[in-house]
Amino acid sequence: MFAAEPPVVPRDALPAGEMDPELAYRIVRDELMLDGNARLNLATFVTTWMEPQADRLMADCFDKNMIDKDEYPRTAALEERCVRMLAELWHAPEPGDAPGCSTTGSSEACMLAGLALKRRWQQARRAAGLPADRPNLVMGSNVQVCWEKFAAYWDVEARLVPMEGDVYHLTPDRAVERCDENTIGVVAVLGSTYDGSYEPVADICTALDALRDRDGLDIPVHVDGASGAMIAPFCDPDLRWDFRLPRVASVNTSGHKYGLVYPGVGWVVWRDRDGLPEDLVFRVNYLGGDMPTFALNFSRPGAQVAAQYYTFLRLGFDGYRRVQGYCREVARGLADRIAALGPFELITHGDQLPVFACTLRPEATGYSVFDVAAHLRERGWLVPAYTFPENREDIQALRFVVRNGMTHDLADLLAGDLDRSLHELRRQATPLRGADSASFDHGARRPHRR
Ligand SMILES: *Cc1c(COP(=O)(O)O)cnc(C)c1O
Repeated sequence: MFAAEPPVVPRDALPAGEMDPELAYRIVRDELMLDGNARLNLATFVTTWMEPQADRLMADCFDKNMIDKDEYPRTAALEERCVRMLAELWHAPEPGDAPGCSTTGSSEACMLAGLALKRRWQQARRAAGLPADRPNLVMGSNVQVCWEKFAAYWDVEARLVPMEGDVYHLTPDRAVERCDENTIGVVAVLGSTYDGSYEPVADICTALDALRDRDGLDIPVHVDGASGAMIAPFCDPDLRWDFRLPRVASVNTSGHKYGLVYPGVGWVVWRDRDGLPEDLVFRVNYLGGDMPTFALNFSRPGAQVAAQYYTFLRLGFDGYRRVQGYCREVARGLADRIAALGPFELITHGDQLPVFACTLRPEATGYSVFDVAAHLRERGWLVPAYTFPENREDIQALRFVVRNGMTHDLADLLAGDLDRSLHELRRQATPLRGADSASFDHGARRPHRR
């Protein structure tokens, strides 16, 4: 079979002639064997396993373009139903009337939510005859890189609130301190990428209520629930972080994270029509009428949306609760095992997102978290090591993301491999790897901008 391959496969130039499809398929598949194993990738929040029925359904609709609402009205209907399900899950006052849409992921969803905040603020400022040229957005320095992109791409000042002491996310008092008349909104993250902790959304809203009463500034909140908006409704139903808080204007989530769909889908929902200025919405042809769309892309795959609807239908509330509850159990158990090994100190425990981070105790002087990550990688496990942002750059951490497919049994194997790695690492006199070796932290690290 392999002898049929030509001695040289053209790599960087378009080949002159054709190739047999089986041969071409095998060449590409074989190269991809050198990628990491997705199921052992504890760096990513993104789904790495779906049921065979979902695989089949996605393959069935790889040819559907999400934007062709008129040609594929049923795909468009599935998207609308998903929006309504999410609006209800997040307690929108009128779920049937809450605007929302699918996106390629949370990054695009955050761009849209941020643009809506900016446009609302501009309209209000202009209506009051006030300047509207210096918008800012207040958020913790732990935000995912998409928020810095939003600020850079759409000319909004990013007011990043640095970490202080041992709280590694936004706090109400420090958020309010940085708000002024040019603040278009405050971003609260439900599930920080750095350590999996929930930001105190309700307390941030309360602090903003007090600011309104004091200074008359009425600043909306966007909840970046990329992960947490699909964990908290099932695992922490009493936690008030969503549209139950009147100040929450919009919420996004990644359908491809704890929404349990393969990469390529996100969601954003606004509380009500006031949250999404009409002039941002475009109309496309739909069954002879017109259908509102708000998106950065035009063409986009429809398969992910069908897969999201399948997963909602398939699991229902109880199914999601079971899957996410199991992830959290595995995360907590693994966090406890790792804490018991000795050299690690937990920053979080896996009891909010099923994600936890840990550092090395000061006594562990012979090796770094980057050395630990490299040793785990030798054994097939992808666990990122990274440095915390501004003000706490002294913290170097390992992060473990537990997703559907990470079982107690696999976690046990991981803990065993970590223990064996430590036996080797303890013989090391000084750390071999530093922060410059960190390479796969999934958007937690600040990008370098010159
Ligand atoms: C992953 C993540 C994002 C970006 O989401 P994508 O779906 O990967 O575009 C934004 N915010 C948070 C908190 C995240 O965890």
